[in-house]
Amino acid sequence: MEGRREYCTEDESHRVYVFSKDGGSALGINVPFVGIFMNKDLFENYSKRIRDFVFLHELGHSKQNKVIKFFLSIIAAALVVFSALFLISAVIFLFLFPFLSFGYLVRFLLSLFSLRVFICILESHAELFAVKKIGLKEYNRVLKEIKGERSKKNIIRKFINWFKRPSPKLVKWAYEKYD
Ligand SMILES: [Zn+2]
Repeated sequence: MEGRREYCTEDESHRVYVFSKDGGSALGINVPFVGIFMNKDLFENYSKRIRDFVFLHELGHSKQNKVIKFFLSIIAAALVVFSALFLISAVIFLFLFPFLSFGYLVRFLLSLFSLRVFICILESHAELFAVKKIGLKEYNRVLKEIKGERSKKNIIRKFINWFKRPSPKLVKWAYEKYD
C-alpha cells in the first residue's frame, strides 16, 4: 500500500487508497465496505483522462445499490463454484464416459457465460455512472486510449480483461436511452 489521498475530478471527490502492483494488474478496484483502490501505475504511466475515468468507474461501483449488488455477487460466486465443479467433472469423465464429459463441458460453458453476463451488467452499470459525468464524446476518447494500452498486454491478461470488461455498446445504449 502506497498511502491514501483525496481524489477529485468533475464534481466528485472521494478518498482512494493507492496500491503498487504491476504485471498487468487491475488499474482500479472497489472493495465493498472498504473503499476505492487505485494502481500507482495510473499516476505514473497513464494520462489524466484514463486516471479520472478509472476513478469515476470505481466511484460508480460505490453508488450501486448495496442490496442488489449483494445478491448479484452471491449469484456470481455460486456460478464460479458451479463452473469449477462442472469443469472438474468434465475432466474426470473424459476417458470413462465421454458423453457425460461432454454434458459437463456444456454446463461449464453455460455457467461461465452466465457469469460473464452478470459481471457485464454490474460493470456496465458502474461505467454508465462515469460516462454520465464525462459525456459520450469524452468516453469515446477514453475507449480509444484504453484500447491502445490493452494491446500491449499478454493474451491471458487480455482474456481476463475481456471477461471483466463492461460492454461499451451496452453502456452507450443505456446512456442514450436513460439520459
Ligand atoms: Zn468495475
